[in-house]
Amino acid sequence: MKVADRMKSIPFSGIRKVFEEVTRREKLGEKIIHLEMGRPDFDTPHSIKEAAKRAIDEGKVHYSSNYGIPELREAIAKKLKEDNGLSFDPATEIIVTVGANEAVFMTMMGLLNPGDEVLIPDPCWLHYFYCAQMAGAVPISVPLREENGFNPVLNEFHSRMTPKTRMIVINTPNNPTGAVFSQKVLEGLAQLAREKDLFVLSDEIYEKMVYEGNRHFSIGSLPGMKERTVTINGFSKIYAMTGWRLGYTATSNDLSAALIRIHQYTTVCATTFSQWGAVEALNGPQTEAAEMVREFDRRRNLVYGALKGMPGIEVVKPMGAFYIFPNIRALGRAPEELTEYLLDKARIAVVPGTTLGEYGKDFIRISYANSYENLKMAMERMKKALEEI
Ligand code: PMP
Repeated sequence: MKVADRMKSIPFSGIRKVFEEVTRREKLGEKIIHLEMGRPDFDTPHSIKEAAKRAIDEGKVHYSSNYGIPELREAIAKKLKEDNGLSFDPATEIIVTVGANEAVFMTMMGLLNPGDEVLIPDPCWLHYFYCAQMAGAVPISVPLREENGFNPVLNEFHSRMTPKTRMIVINTPNNPTGAVFSQKVLEGLAQLAREKDLFVLSDEIYEKMVYEGNRHFSIGSLPGMKERTVTINGFSKIYAMTGWRLGYTATSNDLSAALIRIHQYTTVCATTFSQWGAVEALNGPQTEAAEMVREFDRRRNLVYGALKGMPGIEVVKPMGAFYIFPNIRALGRAPEELTEYLLDKARIAVVPGTTLGEYGKDFIRISYANSYENLKMAMERMKKALEEI
């Protein structure tokens, strides 16, 4: 039997491949330190879990509105207003989704025509590429360069514009580089989007994970941007809720009217009792989330300091998210080869930059979402392994 032609351009996730190899080795008894995972190692805060348990006990176990429970949409609207300067009507402009993943898919499917081109800063979380392709659109890489601290450069967008360009993707704070895009760059991109009548998909899932006084800025808050921007965010990272599968889109009434129809005919609604947990996440105390960010900051300094002292490694200090993206070119090994070597020699799992886009080919991604002690041990083992190359 022959599957759909579109599947030819959609590979099995490269990061998941690393994960499966690690699982295989662990089954054979190897003790591997995980630096490949894009998820916090913390547990979901207690009060959030209690709110979801209460919801189950109270029988909140049926479908919700396709848009999500009103209490959650109101809490999201309040958060977007207070934190991001964004105004949305919770009745029609906010859709609770099954993770930010679904939000990206809905945005691409709802807004792009076959053949439309999407400008995507690269390296990146490759879901943007494959969701665009599932919509029949064409992803176009725009390089994020080390020498600019992985901040996008406007000219690189301008030079890739064609009559078919329809959307710009922004992910700040950035996975995998840890860059926090400057307000100036975002203002330039907004101007380009307005001039050329483009949509903007703004994935802000790491917004609270910023360090050294950096501030996250939402492009949708700029004049003339609401009607063309889909702001995407979620609960997975900052509240350590990856398994709860909850995210959201916030955009104009007109665009939401397209997105909701994708959601209606695929997932219908996000899990109802998960949504009650998320209401508590937004309305309850933020202390655990803040502590988590402080701990990530401590780990970031540890890993950055350790990498700087390793042979053949060049590294930009990340200012956001929980990833660091060292350049390994001088080691003379391809990222896949080095990943394999580090698994064999140092028993640490990292992600080869090649699975994160065309411009990731000189890099590996290290996630510091692991304990301080494990990270310390991992860095010692990595240094030793690199010294033997
Ligand atoms: N956006 C980015 C940039 C991510 O790194 C991830 C998770 N790896 C997501 C979205 C997906 O998050 P969710 O669990 O909400 O689907």
